[in-house]
Amino acid sequence: MSMGHWNTKEGILDLLLRLVRVPSVTGTRGELRMEEEIVSILMELPYYQKQPEYIFKKAIRHDALDRKAVACLYKGNDERNRTIILLSHYDVVGVEDFGRLTPLAFSPMDYTRALEREELPKEAKEDLQSGDWIFGRGIMDMKAGLAVQLALISEVCNQKDLGYNLLLLATPDEERYSAGMFAGVELLHEIRAQFGLNYELTICSEPSFGAYPGDRSKYFYTGSVGKMLPLIYCTGTETHVGEPLEGLNAAWMASVFAERSELSTDFLESSQGERNPLPTTLKLTDLKESYDVQTPTNAYILLNILTLLQSPEDVMSKLRNIGIESSEYIGKRLMETYQSLGYQEGANTRKIIKPEVYTYWELYEKGLKEHGSAFRQAIEEHVKKLEQDLGTNMGKLTAAIAGVISSYFKHLAPFYLIMLSPPFYPHVYLKEDEKDEKARGVVMSCIAKAKKEYNEEIGVVSYFQGLSDVSYFRLRDKEKVAKVLEKEMPLYGAGYDIPLELIAGLDVPAVNIGPYGKDAHKRTERLHIPFSTEVLPALLKHAVYSC
Ligand SMILES: [Zn+2]
Repeated sequence: MSMGHWNTKEGILDLLLRLVRVPSVTGTRGELRMEEEIVSILMELPYYQKQPEYIFKKAIRHDALDRKAVACLYKGNDERNRTIILLSHYDVVGVEDFGRLTPLAFSPMDYTRALEREELPKEAKEDLQSGDWIFGRGIMDMKAGLAVQLALISEVCNQKDLGYNLLLLATPDEERYSAGMFAGVELLHEIRAQFGLNYELTICSEPSFGAYPGDRSKYFYTGSVGKMLPLIYCTGTETHVGEPLEGLNAAWMASVFAERSELSTDFLESSQGERNPLPTTLKLTDLKESYDVQTPTNAYILLNILTLLQSPEDVMSKLRNIGIESSEYIGKRLMETYQSLGYQEGANTRKIIKPEVYTYWELYEKGLKEHGSAFRQAIEEHVKKLEQDLGTNMGKLTAAIAGVISSYFKHLAPFYLIMLSPPFYPHVYLKEDEKDEKARGVVMSCIAKAKKEYNEEIGVVSYFQGLSDVSYFRLRDKEKVAKVLEKEMPLYGAGYDIPLELIAGLDVPAVNIGPYGKDAHKRTERLHIPFSTEVLPALLKHAVYSC
């Protein structure tokens, strides 16, 4: 550490390599090592040696690894106790994509050198040869952001001339269910109460993403898309393959639904001149374990839906419509098939089967009405057992719960069951009020400075499309959202502990001012060194001093 802090080009690069060296892959003990490393970095600063009570940790609830969100406070001298939150996540995605170079994934210098002998896509090759880029897992997403934020803290707490307080929050598990941020939200409430802080602004430093394939522009963001993960569970009626018209194939039901929901413009929105990405299927599977000549009875799909404004209620009702359309289509196809085979509808056993459409809550209520509290108990017991068996794959667990509840309604088959799997990310964007306008002003001022002093063009985007923890700084229509999640997401509050009340209680504008990189989550993940270690640190410092 030269000059008593790390906020220099060399200092940030050292810090970055030190952070990348810890293999903090989501859901592994590497995350625990990262938590320790962050604390030991902070403890090298005299400021925290004198005041170790300004370093905080908060454990994720019910976490097998006992992972923790880490925070540190810098107290400025502002009688109003205005505070800027610096947000980052310290986990990274896995390294399966690195192939035989996996052992080098966390050693960026060696890995970058080794890539010189590898076949690479053209653009990655050019970047490599320019010498301005460094490759490695997590170097872009998002240890660079964390390094720059830590470096800023190290400089500020040396100088003690900043009016604002800074509160750095670093979380695990961001790349999976954001459970680290849920602990972080609790921690933010606790620290606020303890020190009487006023949270004015959150600055996250996730990297800039291209807005379309091949886009090379840099962006800062003033909000983020939201995300829902509906699960459509299909219960068909099984039959022998020799008599396919005697039943209804669940795999067909799932594919008909997926065909209608894929890229469906029913979910298209535009807000502040931007559009949300269209829905796409993340998983489509039947649940047959082995080969035989019986048609699949059950299948499900997981659907990725990104939102700008629409509520969970809106999304559920659009899904129901797709369910009804799918059912109509199946009925029509069967009718045509009967006709072309010369069958009469209604004659003897030939009857048009159209699947019913239920939501989870509708079926659950039906069960309660028909079987009373024994039904509730049976479901709860099954769910407990499933939780132990299925670990933390919440999509699979949700499908298993769907299977249990559907098994009580064999007499209603065939039917679609529409429900929600974790995770849930609220969409966040800036409002028109004073606090939010100020947040927007900070971003615009950084962009102007980048142009004037560094000749860098940086665009501003209202909705970050890469999903991030900034979603958990604000929640609109809390009651309505909670109602839908309580009813339609069986794991809500039972394994998926999203603290909706506390999130709504933060209501802090959150923007993203981050480094520049390419190919996050790929083996060619890389960081642009000049922008990330020279321009960004100056802009971030400007942001906290100009606030
Ligand atoms: Zn990230």
